[in-house]
Amino acid sequence: MSQKELLRVEHLKKYFQTPRGTLSAVEDVSFRIEERQTLGVVGESGCGKSTVGKMLLDIYRPTGGKIFYEGKDITALSPKERRPYVKKMQLVWQDPYSSLDPRLRAGDIIAEPIDNFRLAANRAERAEKVERLMQMCGLYPEMATHYPHQFSGGQRQRICIARALATDPEFVVCDEAVSALDVSIQAQIINLLKDLQDELRLTYLFISHDLNIVHFISDEIIVMYLGQIVERGTMETVYRNRAHPYTKALFSATPAFTAAEKQKKQRILLEGDVPSPVDPPKGCRFRGRCPYADKRCEEEPQWHAVEDNHFVKCRLFD
Ligand code: SF4
Repeated sequence: MSQKELLRVEHLKKYFQTPRGTLSAVEDVSFRIEERQTLGVVGESGCGKSTVGKMLLDIYRPTGGKIFYEGKDITALSPKERRPYVKKMQLVWQDPYSSLDPRLRAGDIIAEPIDNFRLAANRAERAEKVERLMQMCGLYPEMATHYPHQFSGGQRQRICIARALATDPEFVVCDEAVSALDVSIQAQIINLLKDLQDELRLTYLFISHDLNIVHFISDEIIVMYLGQIVERGTMETVYRNRAHPYTKALFSATPAFTAAEKQKKQRILLEGDVPSPVDPPKGCRFRGRCPYADKRCEEEPQWHAVEDNHFVKCRLFD
């Protein structure tokens, strides 16, 4: 397996100005992703995981921090300088229906990036590329003339994936890519994403609130709470040996895979709501809901190694 770094972010921050004050959506987030790997990003809604994905794709400009792609700092590139990276880095959205223009036929939707980047010399080459992408994503080429409403939810997500792959990207952000689908269809789309990753040597940032899906598809995982990473590591180390109180609570809320797991599983119920990111708690942001919180948690917790390739930000490991 390749160990070459494709993408690295350092101390990434995103603040939004709101009528209630400055909202700290992402605060000091750092991670790296190696080529052909999948990094899962989990956390409740509003934890900043989608904002991270949007900063990587230049949909949002970071307030602070840096993004490196193949070692090059791409954070402050002009739109023109950024264009080659836009081609290499694509997005699969959560809701396939709202992200597809209902007035366009499937073939034209998939061809949009081909047209934008002038990737086909003529109409025949364009049609050939669309046909290849549709086949690759499990769609019949004759469906190219159909409109979005004529497809099922799973097929619409396949159209979104085909469109994302039209520029031959290296890196794809999948933002809740299967959340809107039925469970049986979710499995088909996840398997498609895995097959495409092998075939096309893709690297994924896979954002989801569904830990079972993230566990299935990811090599590494970061757990986010209120704009910050609280635990990170390889998928297997974090899954086997959850360390942060928030990660434990998050995993306890997912349905068990097996009967044995079901027996072992104890739901950890968190008190209170996620605090406002406009006025987050000082020190550990989780302290208002953490069963182990004490005075020491009013200081910013440090990162600690739990084991090889597994790190947690919590004073319980001091
Ligand atoms: Fe809980 Fe304190 Fe650890 Fe934060 S630092 S997770 S409040 S024990």
